[in-house]
Amino acid sequence: MNRAICWIRRDLRLSDHRVLARACERHDEVVVVFVFDPSILKRWAPRNRRVSFILASLAELDGKLRQHGSKLVTLLGEPSVEIPELCSRLGASATYWGLDHDPFAIARDERVAAALATNGVRSEGISDQTIRVKGEVLTKGGTPFRVFTPYSRQWLELFGPVVDAAEACADLSKLVAVNIIESEGVELNHELLGFEAMDLWLEPGEEAGQAALAAFESRIDRYGETRDFPASSGVSFLSAHLRFGTVSIRSAVRAALRHDTAGAKKWLIELVWREFYQDILANFPEVVHTTYDPQYANLPWPGSHEHFESWCLGRTGFPIVDAAMRCFNETGWMHNRLRMIVASFLTKDLLVDYKKGEAYFAEGLLDFDLASNNGGWQWAASTGCDAQPYFRVFNPYLQSRKFDPDGEFIRRWVPELAGLSGEDVHNPSAFQVLECGYVDAIVDHDVQRQRAVAMFESCRLGG
Ligand SMILES: Cc1cc2nc3c(=O)[nH]c(=O)nc-3n(C[C@H](O)[C@H](O)[C@H](O)COP(=O)(O)OP(=O)(O)OC[C@H]3O[C@@H](n4cnc5c(N)ncnc54)[C@H](O)[C@@H]3O)c2cc1C
Repeated sequence: MNRAICWIRRDLRLSDHRVLARACERHDEVVVVFVFDPSILKRWAPRNRRVSFILASLAELDGKLRQHGSKLVTLLGEPSVEIPELCSRLGASATYWGLDHDPFAIARDERVAAALATNGVRSEGISDQTIRVKGEVLTKGGTPFRVFTPYSRQWLELFGPVVDAAEACADLSKLVAVNIIESEGVELNHELLGFEAMDLWLEPGEEAGQAALAAFESRIDRYGETRDFPASSGVSFLSAHLRFGTVSIRSAVRAALRHDTAGAKKWLIELVWREFYQDILANFPEVVHTTYDPQYANLPWPGSHEHFESWCLGRTGFPIVDAAMRCFNETGWMHNRLRMIVASFLTKDLLVDYKKGEAYFAEGLLDFDLASNNGGWQWAASTGCDAQPYFRVFNPYLQSRKFDPDGEFIRRWVPELAGLSGEDVHNPSAFQVLECGYVDAIVDHDVQRQRAVAMFESCRLGG
């Protein structure tokens, strides 16, 4: 029997699954496998929402596979040992997986491929989590783009909806019968993995992902006008589903294409941002350790640890920053506008190294994605691909007036300020008068802005 393994990682679904479709096309029987890797798990604190999201999504997927007479094989261990051993037990001749540009994942996949090759098992990485892969979107000179606008222009020029967004339908009659793999794998749960079960602010799994995408389509036309206001539901809330592949990138793109409106076009561009950051990570993997723009590699970042802790706790005395950080600590979610504001505040107002903020987000974000998180932080810190220069410093007071005009979001997350009406939540003198127990501002924005600009200038001059 010509059997293959479909190793799922960032593609926790059955529909529109290129890797599964390819395995089913080429083989008589396909086994779907997920491996929890202890070397990844050990990097995370025991309260991690992503573990809860993954476990719930896997449980749903297992149920779906059982409806097709098969089951999900879940393993715990080093993939370069677990996958080859499973292949030899089941007599599988090939293993398929979705390409991942995370340097850690690339190294792991190389180890797995080498171990499989030693046993004569073929392996193939297939592009599934992005529309475009490394080397496809290039300048006329054949080099990768370093800034977004020309990248997105080229991406849109190359994009052919019929091919690029086509649904990948797997022949599910090829799924291996459950009795053949009944004794394979271990039953994974939070205790076995050493994690606490966490409440999630959004429902995990493929069904919930599809429902969230369908719900967003009823709002997509207004995306352009509503996307920047954290108190409203203008955005899609799909990032975690795209991160774990409970929604395929192609189904998201198809949703955008179904609407010939400015809102849908704007949303498609956001999906291209996601592709751009994946492309940067693939072409310039050094961004994981150092600045994208080399002239800023040695910025001194004189900010204090005490200020960093105040930022983490949402106790800076800047209402929009504190509301955003408290929302994040409580839920693992932060609106894009707020991510930009708090990242700018940490790096330009508190002068703390972006890597500390990046790591704090990496630990807590439900939708954590190495490429987008690193790209977003470096953009905000002006060490990355932002076409605007370093002296763009967000003013947290103006940002909150503009994007939370009635203070609805601030009052929801900073109860000390709940007694203030409308505009007053943006006005420090109003909350000092109230004596509401809210902390005083830990820095003076205007002073810190000057310090930030001077820090960048000294580095540019080689000082
Ligand atoms: C400092 C910082 C850190 C970030 N960290 C992450 C992260 O770890 N994971 C993550 O998925 N996004 C990250 N982003 C990007 C963005 O904030 C989130 O993708 C977005 O808030 C998710 O909400 P949504 O799904 O409702 O987005 P929507 O506005 O509905 O956008 C749709 C999708 O497009 C993609 N997207 C949108 N904006 C961006 C962007 N600026 N960069 C890359 N992709 C984008 C996401 O996949 C998103 O789900 C970060 C941004 C910043 C400024």
